[in-house]
Amino acid sequence: MSSTVENVVIIGTGCAGLTAAIYSARASLNPLVLEGPLPGGQLTTTSEVENFPGFPHGVDGYQLTQNMREQATRFGTRFEQALVTSVDFTTMPRKLVVAERTILARTVIIATGASPRMTGIPGEKELYGGKGVTTCATCDGAFYRKMEVAVIGGGDSAAEEALFLTRFASKVYLIHRRDSLRASKIMADRATSHEKIVPVWDSVPVEVLGVKEGSVSGLKVKNLKTHAETVLPVKGVFIAIGHIPNTGPFAPPLAVDEGGYFKPQPGSQVQTNLPGIYVAGDCSDHVYRQAITAAGMGCAAAIEAERWLAEHHG
Ligand code: NAP
Repeated sequence: MSSTVENVVIIGTGCAGLTAAIYSARASLNPLVLEGPLPGGQLTTTSEVENFPGFPHGVDGYQLTQNMREQATRFGTRFEQALVTSVDFTTMPRKLVVAERTILARTVIIATGASPRMTGIPGEKELYGGKGVTTCATCDGAFYRKMEVAVIGGGDSAAEEALFLTRFASKVYLIHRRDSLRASKIMADRATSHEKIVPVWDSVPVEVLGVKEGSVSGLKVKNLKTHAETVLPVKGVFIAIGHIPNTGPFAPPLAVDEGGYFKPQPGSQVQTNLPGIYVAGDCSDHVYRQAITAAGMGCAAAIEAERWLAEHHG
């Protein structure tokens, strides 16, 4: 076990983790950032980001996270590729076990993100990220002006994505495996009564077409009652069948809600049920899930960590 005690260890290098790193590095806390399996987070799987403030002409998702990383490095952030496999949060300092060692930390910011649940059908993986299969209408919807698109799912996210896409697309197929939406009544009514949204009930996607061409050329769907297969002539496929928050070895002891997301203390967006341990970004936010909100939470977590350190370690 290393005897060095880190002031702050940040887990995750998406918008939340990198913003926490920028703030805590600028506060001279010399943060250590642990980088997991998807450096840069979900943003790196989007091509163009048009809604991050400060980039009037848009910015490449990968480039945006690279810029944040450079900014964090400039102020002294250290990065290490390491997957946390277990923790001991019963002690002070906190213990984080990575491959071959135990890291000791006075404060910990967990910004491990969430992974979109995928269908696993042929063509989905090959055409994901800039090739027509996406999990974020807010990020990618504007690329489908006057085109037909499909949304898969029946929850609030699917209804919301479908409604958002009506601003751009000529037609939005809403494909759901049952004959009524799981979404709240108001969202379901709005979606099903919209003139551009065509519900495709009792149906599941079978294959995303266009792998050879390198971009989506259609979506094959199957009706579960009749077993009939149809090809929808869509250029975009939006998967909205839920997310899986990456709470890894941290929950328990950290509290999570019924959806498995970290559950901050009442009145705080970032404070967990344990002192000096904070959460930020999509691992604790299933409502907004935006790069800018994740960055905001990362900032808040870093400021809280700084205050906690000032109070307890001078
Ligand atoms: P969700 O409520 O879990 O809905 C997931 C949907 O995907 C369900 O309709 C489910 O079908 C379907 N599904 C799951 N796995 C599937 C598969 N393998 N193939 C095909 N379909 C599949 O997830 P969500 O819509 O992301 O919402 C998550 C939470 O955030 C919810 O609590 C929601 O209310 C909340 N949220 C709120 C808002 C808002 O208030 N504005 C917006 C977005 C999300 P079944 O219905 O058959 O299970």
